[in-house]
Amino acid sequence: MLEIRDLVKVYPGPVPALRGVDLDLPEGMFGLLGPNGAGKSTLMQIVAGLLEPTSGSVRLDGENVVEDPARVWGRLGYLPQEFGFYPHLTGRDMLVHLLELKGVTGPNGGAAVADRLLEQVNLRDAADRKVKEYSGGMEQRLGVAQAIAGDPRLLIVDEPTAGLDPEERFRFYRILAELAEERIVLLSTHIVEDVSVLCPRFAVIREGEVVERTTPDDARRALEGQVYEGEADSAAIREGTVLRSLLVEGRERLRLHLPDGDPPSGFTAVEPTLEDAYLVRIQNGAARRESREGAAA
Ligand code: ADP
Repeated sequence: MLEIRDLVKVYPGPVPALRGVDLDLPEGMFGLLGPNGAGKSTLMQIVAGLLEPTSGSVRLDGENVVEDPARVWGRLGYLPQEFGFYPHLTGRDMLVHLLELKGVTGPNGGAAVADRLLEQVNLRDAADRKVKEYSGGMEQRLGVAQAIAGDPRLLIVDEPTAGLDPEERFRFYRILAELAEERIVLLSTHIVEDVSVLCPRFAVIREGEVVERTTPDDARRALEGQVYEGEADSAAIREGTVLRSLLVEGRERLRLHLPDGDPPSGFTAVEPTLEDAYLVRIQNGAARRESREGAAA
């Protein structure tokens, strides 16, 4: 179990990046979904024991990550957003080097451990190729290989699918899903599809605050009968009800969130998606902030 309690991070500036985050993560995949600047990377770095919070605590199976990060580093794997590789090394040599830095060894030496890890992330055939020849997806998988070295209890992956093409993304999903079968995986992302494909539980983070903890099913169900779609040129669309506009076969259509009242003419009820649920959360947050700021002015 990973327990995050009242986590606050204020960067010099002062930029409040986290404003009291509480989360409980049991075994399996947990998604942290939020727009850019929401505080995801900050949270991931604190959980990885690489950044000190201003206040609050993080416990992995009861042990305090914040007070004594070195004690838990062995049980923790981290794939940061930016991962530096040596382009002229082969995938295997790069991984052997990273294993040495991490202090991970095996009875048959580092190369044997590296080969097993490369197999796990589907890179065995590319082991002897130079990293500079790897695609973005292959680099990410090499990053996962170093993160799971030593079989960590907790795996932290920060925005791992950004920039991957659909095929690579799908391959990456499969690897992550397998890894989450026997450990805690914390996945941060701004991509709703990552959550719908992978995460039985997730939280939405916005401006340093967790604004929702739920499951994809519950999030969709909570909006049933409240989402409508129709032509953009329909009159009488109430302010604040537009979730997003989309182009369908070249024509603009709007998706509305109407918790009550009748829809404008030409709009019909549609099945809510996880994207709808996310947008409602994010936009409600914006509306709350504006009313707070309005009241303070
Ligand atoms: P996300 O990963 O969700 O995009 P971040 O955790 O990177 O969000 O950033 C949260 C907020 O903290 C942003 O306003 C960002 O500009 C700010 N921030 C991040 N890192 C630093 C830093 N080292 N110094 C000052 N502000 C920072």
